[in-house]
Amino acid sequence: MRIKKFSCYHCGAPKVTPYKNPYIVCDYCGYMIDVDYAAGLEVWNHSEEHTNQYLERKAIFQAKTELFLAGKNKEMYWKETYDFWDFYYKHYPEYLPPSVPKGEKYNLYIQSAADMAADTMDFTSTEKADAYNAAYAAISYYQKDDKNFVEYSSFLKMIEAFLEFQSQGFRIVYDNPKYEIMDEVMPEQFQLKMKLSQIAQVWIPYLEDYYADAFLNQYKLKQEYVEMEEPMRHEVVCEDCKKELSVPVGALVCICEHCRHQNILKKVAHCHNCGVENELPKNWDNMITCNSCGTQLRVVQPLFS
Ligand SMILES: [Zn+2]
Ligand SMILES: [Zn+2]
Ligand SMILES: [Zn+2]
Repeated sequence: MRIKKFSCYHCGAPKVTPYKNPYIVCDYCGYMIDVDYAAGLEVWNHSEEHTNQYLERKAIFQAKTELFLAGKNKEMYWKETYDFWDFYYKHYPEYLPPSVPKGEKYNLYIQSAADMAADTMDFTSTEKADAYNAAYAAISYYQKDDKNFVEYSSFLKMIEAFLEFQSQGFRIVYDNPKYEIMDEVMPEQFQLKMKLSQIAQVWIPYLEDYYADAFLNQYKLKQEYVEMEEPMRHEVVCEDCKKELSVPVGALVCICEHCRHQNILKKVAHCHNCGVENELPKNWDNMITCNSCGTQLRVVQPLFS
């Protein structure tokens, strides 16, 4: 089979199961591996009506938060942000990181997003935000074959200013122990790639093919395809929603694609040398040492037919 090339930095396994959501999850250990720009774009483009509903809601959100910001009304600013993110993930469940389970963790995640926004209200320096707004306003356009395009170098300047602005916000989050949950469910590298991916999907239609390609390559938003053998699979029923899932043999964790429940399939690694079952340590690495004979074991061993 031909499949996009991703491999897990945690357990070393390749990506083997087709997916629709932009977050790429390891089929063997359940870690979030990467963000797929093309999959995100498909979600964005699948219905113009759906996307327009989002844009309408977003415009209201922006108008309201601007007012609350001007009036320094932190409480209302917080609430509006909370409601908006809750709407966003209900409108686009595909954009919710699979590392955020339903229930309490979900609420905590949305609360953190609102807390962070409210915390940034106190920002005294608006230098990065101003630079981004200026770069945005300086984007120039041209027409070709009756279509509007953005001038590439002005577009790149906007992207760079956008990333600078984002990374300033990230420091508030990722350097503050109060937002520990973000490290757990949305590590900085994914957050950054998702933001980049989302801004790209809005702008790519305004770039000529040649420039769109150059941009996607430069920012590693494009994936190569590889030819791979089919892995052996077995069926598992999700503990939560009871839907059937096709899981590759050797998988330890399966995050349900329907309900995001984390199904733990295996908590041990078998030693191929002495046959002893080794309980996995909490933060296991891709190799562990057999506690009976000392052999180095690979925790995840994908099996191909
Ligand atoms: Zn993995
Ligand atoms: Zn499920
Ligand atoms: Zn052993």
